[in-house]
Amino acid sequence: MGADEPGGERRTLVAGNWKMHHDHLQAIRTVQELGLRLDPGALARVEVTVHPPFTDLRSVQTVLEDRAIPLVLGAQHCHSDDAGAFTGEVSAPMLARLGVRYVLVGHSERRQLFGQSDAQVAAALRAVLRHGMVPVLCVGETAGEREAGETEARLAAQVAAAADGLTVEQIAGMVVAYEPIWAIGTGATATADDAQRACAHIRARLGDLSSPEAAAATRILYGGSVNPDNTAALVAGPDVGGVLVGGASLDAASFSDIVSAAATVRRSSRR
Ligand code: PEP
Repeated sequence: MGADEPGGERRTLVAGNWKMHHDHLQAIRTVQELGLRLDPGALARVEVTVHPPFTDLRSVQTVLEDRAIPLVLGAQHCHSDDAGAFTGEVSAPMLARLGVRYVLVGHSERRQLFGQSDAQVAAALRAVLRHGMVPVLCVGETAGEREAGETEARLAAQVAAAADGLTVEQIAGMVVAYEPIWAIGTGATATADDAQRACAHIRARLGDLSSPEAAAATRILYGGSVNPDNTAALVAGPDVGGVLVGGASLDAASFSDIVSAAATVRRSSRR
């Protein structure tokens, strides 16, 4: 499925990050149920991805293909090298061969729990691009940085570290997810105004690194305790092109409700 509506408007992107949840049998059941629940009218306006654990990818890919379920396959992470002595890691070409389209890069859990550095994030992002997939670059500030008034500086630094040196086409084609760390898995959501302000700031910094036209095309998502009740308000921000959903994407009912809520927002002058 393409990223845009037939009318030329950019489709909202709703991405489900399953983290380390759902074995391959649970994953199969979840995507089958999503296939039954997702409203075709909503899918005309919303592109939906699921990012299961690595061990589920082949099973999910097969079910999506066999049953023509209109979900796009995503992954949660990859290594920057194409192959090598990196025990426990998975490479971008391995994901591309499985039909993966979107790969999360630099999720805060990878950065905080597994020590992924800005340099490793930048290298993984380039590996994703090299193999024809779309990186979803995750950036966001800690609670302490927010309280110290450092949110914008933190976002600018993370965006520059990952995207400096990319071509304008690469910047236009990538996805960035603004994920304030204090909002991930906590039930504390950024206000719609805060999410819009942060996404606009990220877009401006991408414009500095490329061109305003390229940055206008980049899809920028909000992530952090998104649920069916707060989705429409968050997605209403003109710079917010969709949502990255963790916990609420594990259950087919709540995830399909989020997709339906996102589809209620008209995107006339939206990015
Ligand atoms: C995430 O994992 O990227 C995320 C936003 O999680 P949650 O929706 O559970 O806060």
